[in-house]
Amino acid sequence: MLEEIEEEIRNCRKCPLWKERNNAVPGEGNKNAKIMMVGEAPGRVEDEKGKPFVGKAGHLLTEILRKNGIKREDVYITNVVKCRPPGNRNPRREEIEKCLPYLERQIDEIKPEIIIAMGNFASSALLEMYGFKAESISRVRGRIFYSPVHSIKIIPTFHPAACIYNKALLKYLEKDIGMAKNSLR
Ligand code: URA
Ligand code: SF4
Repeated sequence: MLEEIEEEIRNCRKCPLWKERNNAVPGEGNKNAKIMMVGEAPGRVEDEKGKPFVGKAGHLLTEILRKNGIKREDVYITNVVKCRPPGNRNPRREEIEKCLPYLERQIDEIKPEIIIAMGNFASSALLEMYGFKAESISRVRGRIFYSPVHSIKIIPTFHPAACIYNKALLKYLEKDIGMAKNSLR
C-alpha cells in the first residue's frame, strides 16, 4: 500500500541523508493519479514540513499546474531522493541508488499514465528505469518517451527551481506540462 511505503520512508536509514533531515518527504497527492511529478530532492522548506514542493519552486509549480487546468490534489508529487541533502547539494550516486526503490514502488502502486520528470536527476533516473538512454535535460525535454511494455509515458522537463534561476526556461516548463495534459488518454 502507498501509505506503508510512505511510512517506511519516514523511518528509513538506508543512506546517510537520514542523519541531517528534520523530516523525510515521501510525497503527496492522489493515490490514483494519472500524472506523477518527480523532482530531485527536498529543499529546506520541504524538510521542515515533510511535504514536497512547498517552497518557492513549489509555488511556481502549483501555479503552472493551475494555468494548465491541473489541480495539484489530482496529481502525485514526489522526488528521486526523499531526504534533504545538506545545503541543497546534489544528491550522490549512492544516495540515489539506495532511495530509488521507493520511487519504483510508488510508481507500481499508483500506476500513472504519465510521469513528468523535472530536472536532470529525475529525468536521467526515470529514462534509465524504463530502458531509455539518459541525456542532458535540454536534449530530452519536450519529448514523450513511451514504454509500451509498462504502458507509461515519461516526459522530461526543466526543474521549476531552474526556471526561477533562468526565466528563459519557464516557457518550456509550461509548454511541457501542457503537452503532458494533452497527451492523457
Ligand atoms: N525541489 C525539488 O526537487 N523537490 C522539492 O520537493 C522541492 C524543491
Ligand atoms: Fe532512506 Fe532515501 Fe532518506 Fe536515504 S534519502 S535515508 S534512502 S529515504
